[in-house]
Amino acid sequence: MLQKVRLAAAVLAVLIGAVTPSLAQTRTGPIKVVASFSILADMVRTVGGDKVQVQSLVGPDADAHAYQPTPADAKAVAAADIVVVNGLGFEGWLGRLVKAAESKATVVTASQGIKTVKAAGGHNHGHGHGHRAADPHAWQDVGRGQAYVKNIAAALAKADAANAAIYQANAERYVAELAQLDTWVKTELGAIPAAKRKVITSHDAFAYFAEAYGVSFLSPVGVSTEKEPTAKDVAKLVRQVKNTGVKAIFVENMTDARLVEQLAKEAGGVIGGTLYADALSKPGGMADSYVKMVRHNVAVLRDGMAKN
Ligand code: ZN
Repeated sequence: MLQKVRLAAAVLAVLIGAVTPSLAQTRTGPIKVVASFSILADMVRTVGGDKVQVQSLVGPDADAHAYQPTPADAKAVAAADIVVVNGLGFEGWLGRLVKAAESKATVVTASQGIKTVKAAGGHNHGHGHGHRAADPHAWQDVGRGQAYVKNIAAALAKADAANAAIYQANAERYVAELAQLDTWVKTELGAIPAAKRKVITSHDAFAYFAEAYGVSFLSPVGVSTEKEPTAKDVAKLVRQVKNTGVKAIFVENMTDARLVEQLAKEAGGVIGGTLYADALSKPGGMADSYVKMVRHNVAVLRDGMAKN
């Protein structure tokens, strides 16, 4: 009996398999793509244009590492043709979600085939996964970002062959723009003497950026990413700034004006603005696309490092 049921299921699978290509050919609406987080969603939108309908599970300004999927996410994944993920352990929650949603979507790993690097410092600053293995934040190198775009374009072309030429052309234009952006980053940061190319930041997300652009990211001593630093914490940071000569500091939760002032007064350290690591800003913000995020990060890093 069980044997028969299995056989019937196999026949059904073959039938569905035979039917699916003709359905794809007669598709009229855009293909449905779910991206795990905002940076990938922007890439998919740029490559797919009006041929794709994109939804990001983790929204702007949100943390993809420790994300808790919602029932609405399961619905979106169940209805998706393609699910685009970063991979490299970034979305530990995604496998369960795809399974629970019983999704038939093709899961595409945007980082497929890139050369990985280990996380600098080996710290895990409150991120939900161990950054001691390969750093998952490969998009922070615009060179590798181009590989993401090519992977996404290939997946869209495969899923929607009728529009493959459009995806190809959009991707070529986008990759050329990113190649220019990569050159701009190298020029901007290359103008800063190598000895000054250092910042102190609580974000442990820049190993690829560090490798690609020759910037050192030091962890702040005594500063937690979870809570506002105390005066004692700031005293440690002051010592670190004095010892290293690195005055460019990016500690986003340090909002107490008194402590910021103490850091500036005692060590000449400056809090240099927001670095976008794992998410874009909300639409209309400083970093609401991948390209704008890179431009924004480089501008604040450059201005910060100029003070070293
Ligand atoms: Zn991260």
